[in-house]
Amino acid sequence: MKRLPKRGAYDRETVFKILDEAFVCHVGFVVDGQPFVIPTNFGRSGETLYLHGSAASRMLRTLSEGVPVCVTVTLTDGLVLARSAFHHSVNYRSVVALGRARLVEDPAEKMEALRLFTEHIMKGRWDEIRWPSEQELKGTTVLALPLEEVSAKVRTGGPVDDEEDYALPVWAGVLPLPVVAAEPIADARLRAGTEIPRYMRNYKRS
Ligand SMILES: Cc1cc2nc3c(=O)[nH]c(=O)nc-3n(C[C@H](O)[C@H](O)[C@H](O)COP(=O)(O)OP(=O)(O)OC[C@H]3O[C@@H](n4cnc5c(N)ncnc54)[C@H](O)[C@@H]3O)c2cc1C
Repeated sequence: MKRLPKRGAYDRETVFKILDEAFVCHVGFVVDGQPFVIPTNFGRSGETLYLHGSAASRMLRTLSEGVPVCVTVTLTDGLVLARSAFHHSVNYRSVVALGRARLVEDPAEKMEALRLFTEHIMKGRWDEIRWPSEQELKGTTVLALPLEEVSAKVRTGGPVDDEEDYALPVWAGVLPLPVVAAEPIADARLRAGTEIPRYMRNYKRS
């Protein structure tokens, strides 16, 4: 965490903005000497990142023991096409958080974390859907990771070529790759007359 090159940033605003825009993180941990990096969803409340899943999940069972964990979040904003192979790059924003997670046992905090997961994916949805039952809550493990040792790294802008390469007749620039929602596909068993919710229209992550 100390050896951060020029694109490093630690400020909370940058970190939180990246976390709130992304909806997948990769969770790294070691079991019996074997590293695992597992993709999963997450939620955030202030300086706490929440993970959730089946109580049977090895990832959640392992992390609830308080083992060291590394959570990584990546947003890829665009392809940076340079005139030389060497200077090709990607515009990205990423976060790496290190720490130890704790098992969330308080029912109110657990329910709030589940609300955050849902709202993190689609703001406005929680108020409309059926909330978790007692049974469903029992079968779900929620973990909280304090965002204490966290860094962000950001690359923006166009390619930076070697001076002599600017004369090459090669297209150079950025191909933006935003996350764009396509037309919603209604479930085959959707109740007749159920409209697409207002919060789904113009869905954007950023
Ligand atoms: C976008 C996304 C979001 C997800 N969100 C959640 C979430 O919120 N909560 C949740 O519990 N799970 C989520 N998953 C599933 C998650 O990746 C794991 O598969 C799941 O948590 C089971 O983990 P486990 O440690 O119990 O794996 P195990 O069942 O112990 O897995 C056994 C082995 O299968 C392989 N494996 C496990 N998961 C994957 C995978 N995703 N892809 C390829 N190989 C795999 C690994 O080699 C692993 O060692 C998500 C997956 C994706 C891709």
